[in-house]
Amino acid sequence: MGTHAAAAAVTDTATLYNRTASLPARGRRTALPAHIRRILIVGGGTAGWMTALTFARSLADQAVEIELVESPTVGIIGVGEGSTPWLRGFFDGLGIEEGEWMPQCHATYKNGITFAGWSTKPGFTRYFHPFASMLDNLTMLQFVHNADARVNGADVCAHPDRYFLATRLARKALAPKPIETFPFDVWHGYHFDAVLLGQFMQKHAVQRGVRHRVAHVTHANLNEQGDIASVATEEGLTLAADLFVDCTGFAGLLIDKALKTPYVSFADNLFNDAAVALPTPLGDSIPSETVSTALKHGWMWQIPLTQRFGNGYVYSSQACSADQAERELRETLGLLDADVPARHLKMKIGRVARHWNKNCVAIGLSQGFIEPLEATALLFIQQTATAFVDCLEKGDLSEAAHDRFNGQVNQHFEGTRDYIVTHYKTNSRTDTPYWRANSANQALSEPLKQLLNLWMSGQGIAAAVRQQRLGKGYPVFSWYSLLAGMGIFPDADRLHPAQGREALYRIADIDDLLDRSEVNYRDHREVLSAIPPRRTAPGLQVYFW
Ligand SMILES: Cc1cc2nc3c(=O)[nH]c(=O)nc-3n(C[C@H](O)[C@H](O)[C@H](O)COP(=O)(O)OP(=O)(O)OC[C@H]3O[C@@H](n4cnc5c(N)ncnc54)[C@H](O)[C@@H]3O)c2cc1C
Repeated sequence: MGTHAAAAAVTDTATLYNRTASLPARGRRTALPAHIRRILIVGGGTAGWMTALTFARSLADQAVEIELVESPTVGIIGVGEGSTPWLRGFFDGLGIEEGEWMPQCHATYKNGITFAGWSTKPGFTRYFHPFASMLDNLTMLQFVHNADARVNGADVCAHPDRYFLATRLARKALAPKPIETFPFDVWHGYHFDAVLLGQFMQKHAVQRGVRHRVAHVTHANLNEQGDIASVATEEGLTLAADLFVDCTGFAGLLIDKALKTPYVSFADNLFNDAAVALPTPLGDSIPSETVSTALKHGWMWQIPLTQRFGNGYVYSSQACSADQAERELRETLGLLDADVPARHLKMKIGRVARHWNKNCVAIGLSQGFIEPLEATALLFIQQTATAFVDCLEKGDLSEAAHDRFNGQVNQHFEGTRDYIVTHYKTNSRTDTPYWRANSANQALSEPLKQLLNLWMSGQGIAAAVRQQRLGKGYPVFSWYSLLAGMGIFPDADRLHPAQGREALYRIADIDDLLDRSEVNYRDHREVLSAIPPRRTAPGLQVYFW
């Protein structure tokens, strides 16, 4: 493909994800209001410590005291083992190398997610949603072109698995780290042990000046304006601050219990509200992907860490009981008689109406949660914390700033919700009422309806997504991977042989290109056992911004 076509592909696939997820530059001039001298973060899960690190990096030299208080009796949720590629920007921004954090958190590389069993369409019962990167721009245009041609009835290959390097790496358990002589970095996420990650971040945050206190908060005291003045603890302490961050998880101690912020439920759009999790041992190789397999009443994640697999079944409690779900998970994993304890969890799906309300910002599960199908929760934490620091540094704590901030975060929630909903809406399983109800579900947002109509009409969705008129928050290749991967095309017997422009690209040429790229990547387990310091120029990694 010539440079012109490659350039077009770049524009086609550019995404609004997300400058806001990278930490602000260090040492920049800020207009932090003088009255902000003390910030109290309540909650020490992943959200609490990620927020503490983000704030410490930007605000520590502004003479702002940052304290984190966490309960000695309420544990963290302890799941959440997969990330998007944006976590890499988080650690890079903190100057923490993979070689330091990954081994301590039993972390592995993630090239993307396999979706198995979501579609029953012949040839499309499995597909991979890759983290596409620089090299994939060489094949992206062809993928989009062929998918559009197939929607219009041309018999061309439009399965996403044929077009992305990350898919090849995942299929062969290769790491997204090229050999020294191959200068193309691959965009990747991570898998990690959530508890170890929390401990790692805690250590770093404390080293960077965050004060850590263990105490159980009973309630918040409001002042006359309805702002939070302080929180009281079971130990008899009163902790005052100028700003409060609610990182108390689903409890929402400040944003919900104290400030009574309205909640927008997504229960009509997304039916799953419970999960059960179980570990299993690793085999010989360590996969470099998450696998999401559709089960009877939801889906199962399988996430490889360096020491074990984390597995879990996310399901709807309307469709089956916790016991039934555990049994189905154990059966699927071959653990019916094994003495491995399972963890059961409840999930509240939706978001608060105002993430920043009065002098409190909610970050993490307290602000809302969309089920973990695309492992986006840590990205929300990163974005919310970074966007809030941005407001602080601009010195703008006005009502207008609140509104802008809340609008931005809400838009991200809604965009992600729509992308997740599409997995369910386009499923073609008919084996249980759960799957039939999902495909029949009419509770779709207006933009999602328009996007699906556009796809079905054969006009292509690339332009609308690229301009972020529709499909907000996800890039073109993600939408095409999802819709093409689920086989949302005319049935095979209604396709015609490709003619003229429809037959522009030969799949053999794509195969050849990927064959030549793939040889530059090595076995995942091998790479993990000797994680090298990062060596690629940062410019290569931000290609999709
Ligand atoms: C089934 C499931 C799977 C998931 N998978 C993923 C995934 O793959 N990827 C991803 O990015 N995310 C995932 N998530 C989401 C992810 O787990 C969370 O976003 C993340 O762990 C942040 O949680 P948190 O810190 O907000 O809450 P928690 O981990 O619940 O922490 C809450 C904190 O608040 C403290 N606290 C609570 N009450 C009080 C009190 N009264 N006083 C003082 N402290 C208090 C607790 O002690 C604790 O420290 C998943 C979630 C679920 C439910």
